[in-house]
Amino acid sequence: MRLILLGPPGAGKGTQATRLMSKHGIPQLSTGDMLRAAVAAGTPIGKKAKAVMDAGQLVADEIMVGIIADRIEEADAQRGFILDGFPRTVAQADALDAMLKNKGLKLDAVVELVVDQAALVGRIVNRAKETAARGEPVRRDDDPEVFKTRLEAYNRDTAVVSPYYAQRGQLTRIDGMAPIDRVALAMDTALARGT
Ligand code: AMP
Repeated sequence: MRLILLGPPGAGKGTQATRLMSKHGIPQLSTGDMLRAAVAAGTPIGKKAKAVMDAGQLVADEIMVGIIADRIEEADAQRGFILDGFPRTVAQADALDAMLKNKGLKLDAVVELVVDQAALVGRIVNRAKETAARGEPVRRDDDPEVFKTRLEAYNRDTAVVSPYYAQRGQLTRIDGMAPIDRVALAMDTALARGT
């Protein structure tokens, strides 16, 4: 199964992707996690991306497309994958489209978690508190001010990605403000139906 999860930062994409990964035995390809790993490892991409991420802005399309092109070639992604955090621009969506066409592959579903953006800042403050309470490092970009910049980047560059898939009849919208179990159920129903 090849699936894209769309929605603003803090919408719950990561939570749903983790659940779907264990349910379907396919990897979650989170570009945010990949970039954070690159930053931690001090790779050339990590060095380039760090300041951009800390500021809540988007990393350049060509870097992101290169990362995903390599990642979907890996053995564990051959049976399918869940894209979380990619594509974030129309240019990335076009590049993904070309990549999949090239490989003769199709997407099974594109699911957008629709949320009330005003409530997201509260959610992210909670996520930071819970992470700190577990003794884990808090994401620098979960600072409320940086988070607002991430939302602005979403509204400016990423919000147009949902209509891109809607126009092709591939998009399913789900209420991301519902409790996690209800979101999960709605998502399973959408996936069973396919696009
Ligand atoms: P995330 O964990 O998905 O919220 O991503 C964290 C940060 O990584 C974002 O705020 C961006 O700076 C960067 N990032 C992740 N995925 C992408 C992408 N597809 N395109 C551009 N920047 C990205």
